[in-house]
Amino acid sequence: MKSCREISKLVSRSLDESLPFWSQVQIKMHFLMCQGCRRFNQQLKFVQHAVRKMCEVKVCLGSQEKLSQPGRERIQKTIDAAKWSYNEKMD
Ligand SMILES: [Zn+2]
Repeated sequence: MKSCREISKLVSRSLDESLPFWSQVQIKMHFLMCQGCRRFNQQLKFVQHAVRKMCEVKVCLGSQEKLSQPGRERIQKTIDAAKWSYNEKMD
């Protein structure tokens, strides 16, 4: 059984790469028992969804412009804050 900390790392990684089948199973099993990690996952998914939407809108408008530096920093801060508050509760 993996710890909440290990699960949160796997969940973060799963946003960037597809995890091995067994890791996905471990995450799912952990979610069944742990509301904290389920919430963390939802927050990450929400941020990821919001970023995708923003990118889609930009593409639709035909803009070549990338996400601005302040925008990127704001999103990174939101993700860090979510991770931080999550880890605080778990310590
Ligand atoms: Zn957990």
